[in-house]
Amino acid sequence: METAEIRRRWLDFFSGRGHTVVPSASLLLDDPNLLFVNAGMVPFKPYFLGQETPLWDRATSVQKCVRTGDIEEVGKTSRHGTFFQMNGNFSFGDYFKEGAITLAWELVTSPQDQGGYGLDPELIWPTVYVDDDEAFAIWHEQVGLPVERITRRGKLDNYWHMGVPGPGGPCSEIYLDRGPEYGREGGPAVDEDRYLEFWNLVFMQEELSAVRAKDDFDVAGPLPQRNIDTGMGLERMATLLQGVDNLYEIDEVYPVLERAAALAGKRYGVSSGHMVSESHPDDVRLRVVADHVRSSLMLIGDGVTPGNEGRGYVLRRMLRRAIRSMRLLGYEDPCLPELLPVSLERMEKSYPELSSDWDRISQTAYAEEEAFRRTLTAGTTILDTAVARTKEGGGQVLGGAQAFALHDTYGFPIDLTLEMAAEQGLEVDREGFTRLMQEQRDRAKADAKAKKSAHGDTSVYRALSDGVGGRVEFTGYHEVTSEARIAGMLLDGAPVSSASAGQDVELVLDRTPFYAEGGGQLADGGLVRLAGGALVEVRDVQSPISGLVVHKATVVSGEVGVGEQAHAEVDIERRRSISRAHTATHMVHKAIREALGDTATQAGSENSPGRFRFDFHASSALPMSVLTDVESRVNALLLDDLSVSAEVMTQQQARDAGAMALFGEKYGDAVRVVSVGDWARELCGGTHAERTTQLGLVTLLGESSIGSGVRRVEALVGNDAFSFLARERAIVGQLTELVKGRPEELPERVGGLLARLKEAERDLERLRTEQLQAAAGSLTDRARDVGGVTFLGHDAGEADAGDVRTMVLDLRGRLGNDRPSVVAVTGVAKGRPVVVVATNEGARGRGITAGELVRIAAGTLGGGGGGKDDIAQGGGQDPTKVGEALAAVEWRVGELAG
Ligand code: ATP
Ligand code: MG
Repeated sequence: METAEIRRRWLDFFSGRGHTVVPSASLLLDDPNLLFVNAGMVPFKPYFLGQETPLWDRATSVQKCVRTGDIEEVGKTSRHGTFFQMNGNFSFGDYFKEGAITLAWELVTSPQDQGGYGLDPELIWPTVYVDDDEAFAIWHEQVGLPVERITRRGKLDNYWHMGVPGPGGPCSEIYLDRGPEYGREGGPAVDEDRYLEFWNLVFMQEELSAVRAKDDFDVAGPLPQRNIDTGMGLERMATLLQGVDNLYEIDEVYPVLERAAALAGKRYGVSSGHMVSESHPDDVRLRVVADHVRSSLMLIGDGVTPGNEGRGYVLRRMLRRAIRSMRLLGYEDPCLPELLPVSLERMEKSYPELSSDWDRISQTAYAEEEAFRRTLTAGTTILDTAVARTKEGGGQVLGGAQAFALHDTYGFPIDLTLEMAAEQGLEVDREGFTRLMQEQRDRAKADAKAKKSAHGDTSVYRALSDGVGGRVEFTGYHEVTSEARIAGMLLDGAPVSSASAGQDVELVLDRTPFYAEGGGQLADGGLVRLAGGALVEVRDVQSPISGLVVHKATVVSGEVGVGEQAHAEVDIERRRSISRAHTATHMVHKAIREALGDTATQAGSENSPGRFRFDFHASSALPMSVLTDVESRVNALLLDDLSVSAEVMTQQQARDAGAMALFGEKYGDAVRVVSVGDWARELCGGTHAERTTQLGLVTLLGESSIGSGVRRVEALVGNDAFSFLARERAIVGQLTELVKGRPEELPERVGGLLARLKEAERDLERLRTEQLQAAAGSLTDRARDVGGVTFLGHDAGEADAGDVRTMVLDLRGRLGNDRPSVVAVTGVAKGRPVVVVATNEGARGRGITAGELVRIAAGTLGGGGGGKDDIAQGGGQDPTKVGEALAAVEWRVGELAG
């Protein structure tokens, strides 16, 4: 049965049983504790935590998941993908254990011709939490399974919680016995490969007051409302129903594996049995390639770009691991253009947005492969130098610090270092490397921890939110002043009923015209006047939990009490100015898409008073001419006096109307669409100008890169744009006065000045070289005989690589060809040492090559280099070591000569 069919049957089954089908959320759903959505329940967390009221009693979904913790398992177990899909059914205070177990049983064992999965009931082995007699009884008495097939397991395996105080409960996992070819008998506790877990049913029934570890926590008491959260691995069910040995052989993954094997000229699985533990290393590599290519496709699809931290790093790691695995398999050409389209073809059935976004996705992936190929080339030179240096010192082991530097600076994975060092007969100090890696990880962890605590506790906000019925009405789309009531107040994070002049408070109103920062738009500022006469100044407005608006404010005068009537006034100038910027952002977004195509999707933005920045996906810089076109297009449209309007509609209507939106954006069914005339339509919750003429003028300040594949334009709007242009005019005025010309002559005049400056510099340079050469004449007297070879070593002091090279060639010429000779000269340019070595024919005849000598010298200088046998050049970090470097070269010449 195809994976798509398994998914379809799942949704049919549960929607036919009263569950609302909820589409998968983006992998990047905002959750301070998670890099990626890693389970079906994540989008429902606010309901399980009691922060929001669920919209339904029952729901079902097929959720995209990524588990970075499973990266190392890929290919080595039969059942772990980095990307996978979790089918879930959820009950919010509706059915509980009995409902969850019997529904699962029905779907899994119903014959395939009746819409079920048709697994053999005799092969099913559930587990339950050690003292969950209730679940045990349901499996035994109601479902009718014999007691020996129901395993009781402890907290580590069968108790679920979120790692923080909150809901928790026992779970029941469902396994299928795949038979003796897959391992040992005895049930899930004995062999998790033969007995494959495919579904986990979680029974949320307790409130935990403290959680110290997976198996160490305190139960405070029963939950007021008991919930069900289940997760069935779609790929795992596909593994079982397609009769294949592992997750990498199912229809959504295998075609990539097959293509990779064909490219590398390998035959997959020939020397392996059914058990993954017996796999040939090449088979493991092929599975890694197939898994990582698919995960990368899905991650880029949801908007991740490769980078050096967080989500971007995970993506980079997977892409690079896939590429490197292909190299280790013997395929050296760019592989992603061959593999990614194969994955697309399998995944687009369930995720059609992948095809419509394909240009952006493929460009991002291919650019990363190109970058990595360059890294590999550079890293290989560095590695060769490190290996050479180690060997010269008589060592057998490449230092841990060097391996770590290669990894950290050049992205060189340790196993690649190991393999390449081994090819040259060296081992690597793995312990040292691991220690340095661990230190780095500890630092990262400390960072993450610091970040986590910054998100703090949301329970006070939850209480405030309950006080306003879960939602503060935002009146600011239509008015800038509103009558409201003080619904709650926090002082230093704790609820208070009143506050007095001078105090900083967090204020909640039952309705507010103040826009809370969000969607790339900064918060409003303004004043709140109280019926009792007090005055409060609003500095910032945030929405810490969905539906709640919190005004960060200072009591300027009087006494503020909860329950009082208030008159809220937004600072109109600031609001208008931000709104103009926001409208301008939409227009620039649209104009950029007109110029570059629909792959230029938004990656972020910030709208502040009078200015904005807009980030978008593009694989290369925006040429100046495009920037100018975008700017004039937008300014021309301002004069058309287009009206700006907002409308609430269904998601489908928005798409039909051509609204620009990021796939994977989290939005409910109804969305707000902002239109600029008929021209630009975009999903947006922000505030805007009423007509484009109100913007006045838009000036783009420039364009830059803010990471691989993401560009940023910054711009000014309205009066700020005008002031900027006025200032530029003033600068032009000053310049024309300096060069005594008219403004239009400026480029020519300045160009002329620069050309003359260059000429003067060239003259200076020529003089210096002449001087150096004059000095060289006397230098030849200092040449020494080293075992029959003439060696001339010299430190030229301040001199750049070009000077040093000229000097070396000159000296070699002066020494002539009568005797074998070697010249080595060092110099220091901008604080960095350079070295050039040259040999003559006689020296080369004795096996002395410039390339080798320069590597030795550069190694001593803390860098690298290379070149041909007759002349070679290198450089390093440490200018104090030039003497040592020359001595090392001389010593080696002696060795080779002798
Ligand atoms: P395992 O012990 O096999 O790693 P788990 O206990 O981590 O599984 P759960 O957290 O209970 O799994 O997730 C629910 C279901 O999701 C599992 O029963 C399984 O079917 C599926 N699943 C979990 N991790 C993966 C993965 N890395 N790849 C594919 N499916 C997975
Ligand atoms: Mg797991």
